[in-house]
Amino acid sequence: MSIDLHTVLASHAYIVASPDESLRNEAAALLARSFLCERGEREPCGVCTGCRLALAGTHPDLVTVERKTDDKGKAKSALSVEQVRQMVLDAWARPQIAARKVYVLRDAQFMNLPAQNAALKILEEPPAHDVFILCTESAETLLPTIRSRCVTLRIGGEKRVLRDELAAEYLLLAAKRERLGLCLLMGKCDDWDAERLGSFLESLRAALADALCGRSAVSGLTGEKAVSLLALCDRAEEYRRLNVGTKHIMGMLCALK
Ligand SMILES: [Zn+2]
Repeated sequence: MSIDLHTVLASHAYIVASPDESLRNEAAALLARSFLCERGEREPCGVCTGCRLALAGTHPDLVTVERKTDDKGKAKSALSVEQVRQMVLDAWARPQIAARKVYVLRDAQFMNLPAQNAALKILEEPPAHDVFILCTESAETLLPTIRSRCVTLRIGGEKRVLRDELAAEYLLLAAKRERLGLCLLMGKCDDWDAERLGSFLESLRAALADALCGRSAVSGLTGEKAVSLLALCDRAEEYRRLNVGTKHIMGMLCALK
């Protein structure tokens, strides 16, 4: 893996979005271990105490919040506001053995409005020792105010769109900060409408999420660059939805810092 996960770990809140439940839970678990691994290397080592406890599900600083089950063992329809409030209270206590405490909220799409608002409170002013990972079917199930405080990793599931070749090309150029190459590439696409641009952005985000989770490697793409590109894609998508002209948005995609 060529991505330095620990550069990515600058954020205190993540949304791991995928229509595939096991895929998103798996990605969240990997991300959680990256924070709990004691070796602090590129990816969780799998052998230190932190990794082993996390893998065994007994790490005292790894808290999974999920829907409660009823008498028949069936998951309840909502992740309740009480559960989220309890997490918020717990989040103020310091970690026991690791440097960070990691909270994984499974099926965050089942948080109703009061539960989301309770979560928002801690995401707005999180204690420095906390990390929150919200797993959801789709990021759009969460309040925009929550999304704006998280780094979103979209992981492909069954509905995955085929990798867009242009997106792959863009990523390679962006990783090397080749602005001229990017302008030439975007220039080739000046007949795109908003829909085509939307699918390009979706592919780009999926590729970036894959890279961040170590599912693929892009030459020259550090974690820091990947996170800033993800933020750029999010902004471009927001503009696209606001009907800003596609040429303007493509210009924005060339203007990397
Ligand atoms: Zn480790």
